[in-house]
Amino acid sequence: MSDKLLLWIGEQPSPVKKDRSSDLVMDSVINYYDSEQRKPRYEWGQLFLDNGAFTARMKGISLQRDRVIEVQEHIDPDRTIPLDYPFRTGEPAARMRKLWNKTKDNITYWQTSTSLRKKVVPTLHAWDKSSLIKNVQWLQRNADSDFVALGSIVGPGFQKFDGFFGDRQPSMELIDMVALASSCVAKLTDFKVHLMGFGSSPLMLHLGYYLGAHSTDTTGYRRKAAFGKIVLPGKGERHVGDDSLRGREFGGQAMSIREENPKREEDLTLLNRCGCPVCTSNPDILWIDWRARAIHNEFVMKQEASVAQYFSSVSESTYEKFLDRVVFPGSSLRYLWEYAKLRKNYYRISDVLFNEGV
Ligand SMILES: [Zn+2]
Repeated sequence: MSDKLLLWIGEQPSPVKKDRSSDLVMDSVINYYDSEQRKPRYEWGQLFLDNGAFTARMKGISLQRDRVIEVQEHIDPDRTIPLDYPFRTGEPAARMRKLWNKTKDNITYWQTSTSLRKKVVPTLHAWDKSSLIKNVQWLQRNADSDFVALGSIVGPGFQKFDGFFGDRQPSMELIDMVALASSCVAKLTDFKVHLMGFGSSPLMLHLGYYLGAHSTDTTGYRRKAAFGKIVLPGKGERHVGDDSLRGREFGGQAMSIREENPKREEDLTLLNRCGCPVCTSNPDILWIDWRARAIHNEFVMKQEASVAQYFSSVSESTYEKFLDRVVFPGSSLRYLWEYAKLRKNYYRISDVLFNEGV
């Protein structure tokens, strides 16, 4: 693992910062699709423009292919995702196969008939192990890209399981999906993996990089801030803002840094050491200003990506030891970390992909 790990910072038409000329930025077609505003109002270093398909599908809106292309060509990002067709819970395999065929058609179309062809990041979808292997092989033959984005990778449990890849809620199914798909991509292709939305907290970010992602994005830093939450270096999220916002975001209530938290002192020490522009000048505004929380959260996530970069560039086992001894003990996601190690090693050392009834 010597390649640079990437973290794309989520932005929107009303940006947290206007000067992002030294940032990797993630934005979405959905923010410009029906809007009079046709370009982002911020400067970017590099821009990755998501196609908005997942949001549209969850809202039951269908996106028109030509309009998506028009928005993407007009904004002219560095990377973008051809319109794809994510799965919804409960869909039969035949329907998922049909949606994948439409996704493939669009990957080809984007590469042959638009000005975006050198910027395309294709999305991988699969509905069982056999389709995973076939679809990865198809991408290897047909997609002209250095990255592949993991989309809907689902198994038999999908019918009863909701929220698999949208909000990226931590779960064993999510870990298994990422470990399996990353391993398959690594064995069968020369793509690097982009994992959509794994930068919601330091713990999730580390899980994503550990499981084989070279690139992920954080839009959660901003959403959390709006819901009164901050992230702590090497930790998860804590509630600091307006109490009326508590528990209103999916994922339940975050521990408050002020009250019932048994590790309150430890949390406050971490916060006192934070080197972000807010904590070093006027930390009190974290409690009242969502933008201040967004700036703090972004700083912490970038710092965490640098830490991951540092340890993983030494060696994969060094990074694993660091996560095992420093980051995950005592954390709320420790059980997922133990599971992630098991699954990663299982897929790494076995030929399970090729032998298990595929
Ligand atoms: Zn800070």
